[in-house]
Amino acid sequence: MKVLVIEDDSAVADSILDGLGNASLACSLAGTGAAGIAALAEYAPDIVLLDLGLPDMDGTEVCRAIRRAGDTPIIIVSARDSEIDRVVALEMGADDFIVKPFGMRELVARIRAVTRRTLSGGAEPLEPLPTRRDFGSLIIDTRAQRIEVAGTALHLTPKEFELLVYLSADPGAVFRRTDILHDVWDTNWYGTTKTLDAHIAAIRKKLGDPGWIESVRGVGFRFAVPGPVSSDTSVTAP
Ligand code: CA
Repeated sequence: MKVLVIEDDSAVADSILDGLGNASLACSLAGTGAAGIAALAEYAPDIVLLDLGLPDMDGTEVCRAIRRAGDTPIIIVSARDSEIDRVVALEMGADDFIVKPFGMRELVARIRAVTRRTLSGGAEPLEPLPTRRDFGSLIIDTRAQRIEVAGTALHLTPKEFELLVYLSADPGAVFRRTDILHDVWDTNWYGTTKTLDAHIAAIRKKLGDPGWIESVRGVGFRFAVPGPVSSDTSVTAP
């Protein structure tokens, strides 16, 4: 699940991105209304968190623009707490409204509730991920902090472990380099992406098959179950 956060206040944005990352939600940040509307097509989010007080345009205009562009669910995040704003927000097409300050638990719960209501088919894993996930020969157990390939435990560094867990949370989904760096490393980490490449290379080597993590040129990486298509690759409950 990908969340587009349109928010100009960097302190608020940082705490939102941290909280979403902790909830294993991939996210991208836009600091202006125009950047947010552009990111809608580029990032193709599953849901948008929209601040109403933006520097370049009114949040209500952004909300209408997003709604004109499609059905992406919108949660308005605002410091304005009045009945009128709530009504206006819902009338202009938003799906929910949350007032600052708010807790991350509440925000994540609202995101899950809104996407549960709006997504059809239920293809996205809306429940918390099981602690033990079985991808055929690869088993990832976050509770035991253990990774096994064909029955043999692998020794990953904490960062390699975190990165593999992060990518495997949504098999097949492409994660952007900037999002991975943001979510797995530091919120204010602006170094080169060589560290990321080195970690990916190390994980591939340890897994014994580079096919587990595919490079998506110019974008990022995607976790995939390599080899012949098998029916035994589903995520199983603990
Ligand atoms: Ca603002």
